[in-house]
Parts: sequence; C-alpha cells; structure tokens
Amino acid sequence: MKIYNTLTRKKEEFVPIEEGKVRMYVCGPTVYNLIHIGNARPMIVFDTVRRYMEYAGYEVKYVSNFTDVDDKIIKAALDEGVTAEEISKRYIGECKKDMKALNVREATKHPLATEEIEGMIEMISSLVEKGYAYDSNGTVYFRTRKFKDYGKLSKKNIDDLEAGHREIKVAGEENKEDPLDFVLWKPKKEGEPFWESPWSEGRPGWHIECSVMSKKYLGDQIDIHAGGEDLIFPHHENEIAQSEAANGVEFSKYWMHNGFLNIDNKKMSKSLGNFFTVRDISEKYDLQVLRFFMLSAHYRSPINFSAELMEAAKNGLDRILTAVANLKHMEDHLTESSLKEEEKEKLEKADEFVVKFKNAMEDDFNTADAISAVFELVKYANVNVTESSSKEFAKGLKELIITLSDVLGIITEKQEEILDDEIESLIEERQTARKTKNFARADEIRNELLAKGIILEDTREGVKWKKA
Ligand code: AMP
Ligand code: ZN
Repeated sequence: MKIYNTLTRKKEEFVPIEEGKVRMYVCGPTVYNLIHIGNARPMIVFDTVRRYMEYAGYEVKYVSNFTDVDDKIIKAALDEGVTAEEISKRYIGECKKDMKALNVREATKHPLATEEIEGMIEMISSLVEKGYAYDSNGTVYFRTRKFKDYGKLSKKNIDDLEAGHREIKVAGEENKEDPLDFVLWKPKKEGEPFWESPWSEGRPGWHIECSVMSKKYLGDQIDIHAGGEDLIFPHHENEIAQSEAANGVEFSKYWMHNGFLNIDNKKMSKSLGNFFTVRDISEKYDLQVLRFFMLSAHYRSPINFSAELMEAAKNGLDRILTAVANLKHMEDHLTESSLKEEEKEKLEKADEFVVKFKNAMEDDFNTADAISAVFELVKYANVNVTESSSKEFAKGLKELIITLSDVLGIITEKQEEILDDEIESLIEERQTARKTKNFARADEIRNELLAKGIILEDTREGVKWKKA
C-alpha cells in the first residue's frame, strides 16, 4: 500500500510500526457552529482510508478530537449569552448527527480537549523542564528555535520565517523571547473558561491539545497523522515540535493532508455568500450523495463543489444503488438456484474489477479510480445477470458490489428500520392468531420479525423480544 507522505513529499510504501496494526490521528473540528462541507472532506476521506485499511486486514485505532475550547467558541457563547460549554456540547451533538448521515464511523475515541487538560499541563511542564518552553507572566511559550527540526513538515526555513515575523507585533505577546515562539498556555481573560495550572489560571493553546490527545490514546509514536492541508503550517509543524521535544521519538511516520474544497472554483467563505453547511446540503440530497461526490476526486486534489457536479454524483450513485436493488430482485425471483459452470467462470472474471479497485486504493487511496472499477462491475452485472441466471449468480455479483461500496462507506441496501411500536403490534397480532389456532399466521409473523432482526421468546410472563 502506498501513501503520499507530506513529510517526505513522496509516495511511500506503508509499513506500520506494529505489524497488522494502524494507529491514526485525525484533527477534528472546532465546535462553534454546524460543520461546513469543507470540514466534511477530511472526515469522509480519512474514514475511507480507515475502512480500506480494515478491509486490507489491519486493526485500526482511529482517534479524532473535538476542539471544544477556543476563541471562536467563547465568542459564540458571548453572542448568544450562554456558556462556552453549552455551545461546544450542542455542536458536538450536531456534528455527530452529520457524521452519521455521511456514514462516517465513530472513532475508536473522540477525545474532548477540555477533558484532557491534566495531560496538557503535564506535557507543558515537561517541555519547561527540558528547556523547550518558558513561562512569561503566566503565558507559556514554546522555544521554537531550540527544536532543530522545526520546519521539516512544511519545508519552511526558520530564518525566512523569522524575517516574516519581525514586522508583525502581536499585542500581548511582547514578552516572547523570539517572535517565532508559540503559545502552549495562556492566562484567562475576564469571563473566559479557565483551569488552574502552575503558570496561571488559563487554558491551553490549540496545538498542544492534539499532541497530548494523540499521546494519551495512541502512544508516543503513531503511524498516520492527518487533516486538511491548511493544518500543515503552523498546526502540524508545531505538534511535531512539541511531541518530539517532549517524547524524544519521531511523532508520526506518515502525514496525510487533504486538498481544499472550493465552490464554483472560488474559496468558500461567508462573505462571498457561497458557504454551505452539511445540514444545508441535507435539505436537498441524501448525504450519501455528498460522500460519493467527495470520493469522486483524489483526496489530495482540490475539489470543486457545484450544482452540476452534485447532480452527476447523484446519478453515479443511483446507478450503483439501482444495480444492487435489481440484483436483489432477481435473486428473490429467479427460479434456478445453484451456480452453473459458465457462471462460476463469470464470477471469477468479475474478480478483475475487485483487483482494479484494490490497486486503485493501494495507490495512495485513488478513490476516483476505485469508483470507476465499481462502475465497471455494475455494468458487468447488468449485462450478465438475465432471466435465465441462477439465484447464486445474482447474489454473488450483488455481494461483490456491496462489499466494495462498503469500503467506500456507501450503503447500498437500506436496512428497514422497524419501530418498537410496530414490533409490539405484530406481537399482539401473533398472540391473537395463536388463540384462534391460526398457527400459520403466527409463524409467519415470527419469521417476518426474524427477517428484521427481532427474536421472539415465549416466556411464562408472556412474549419477550430482543434485537439479534
Ligand atoms: P477547523 O474546524 O477549521 O479546524 O477544520 C476542521 C478540518 O476541516 C481541518 O482538517 C481543516 O483542514 C478542514 N477544512 C476546513 N475547511 C476546509 C475546506 N474548505 N476544504 C477541505 N478541508 C477543510
Ligand atoms: Zn490537531
């Protein structure tokens, strides 16, 4: 498997630190508003990376944080006259709803910055002890020049950075030893949330949060660290400096960054009036369409969002969903059951599309080519499954399409949700059927529920049910 590593600016063979396991950290959103469709891109692409890694047999530990203490959250709280906690809790909840609708799987762990303050104080203390950080009137800064590898991710030269910084004097930061130094801990301002620390009542800087959460849940060294390309500098560069100075080992082996999403070839921004939240899009489309759209481009390329491209994504996705629905219908209605000799051969031939799919994904997660392979498979199934095919053949091709779609996080068969009320009324109907000795109907209801994953148990206290 090849991954483009921002650290080396090369596609490299993926070699995990521990055989068969992947430890992966993806920088999550700052929760002060509904997430926008740009934020959805890293969620979708790195969820797809995780899904493919698991399909390829790796056990993946996937950690993605929520930044729930930040100036923007505090500002939103002030504007609404509520606490910062109320804002962050609300938008974490909303973000999780969007993620579910985008079929982004829950992370192994979603840490919250505000629940990890102790670890941050520990890491900052250790950086101070080692001479990599210093306290200046309650603000703690990282001594950037002391970290010799500073700039290795963003390929920035420290002297050029210095020259650029000299002009900019930031208010309240006059006490820095060097303009390049960045904040690890800052004192509270009136009315802001704060925590006790050896330096001041205050809160952590943004960069230290990820260094600490990654260390706590994945260890000193991880396989993959990911996020949008805007995070390369300064966020990820600073994370590397903090983590490597504190832990004394290379932080992450591979650094992956997604390209930006633009709208009609322009940067998305509120001031340009071309700003869309994921929720806005959900009013017009099933969010699977947005997911499919995101995967139709390579994750490192910029992607352009437009009404036409969303329509194209919808049509493409429909082709796959329709094929699966048709194959399912065929499977249910064809008369012949077992595979014929020539069908066996045809199924083997269909493996070519699976190989194509895998090759595309193994080449730095080329989801665009992987989708093409699924389309070819769909076409193959549409042509080859006919009235005279066997059930097994229709099923075999259907399952191939479902498996590959699932690696991309595309749900092809909607599980019919059954409500508790419906279950109860069917159970009641079954009781009546049994009383009137209509055992055929009673069995039919039991089977109908079983097909929906509901198991009935006849007990002395009456009928109980549970989900399989
Ligand atoms: P933020 O909440 O701004 O820290 O962003 C959360 C994640 O979304 C980060 O990984 C960003 O790089 C990413 N991101 C923000 N805007 C865009 C965009 N327009 N296109 C792609 N990714 C984005
Ligand atoms: Zn981060």
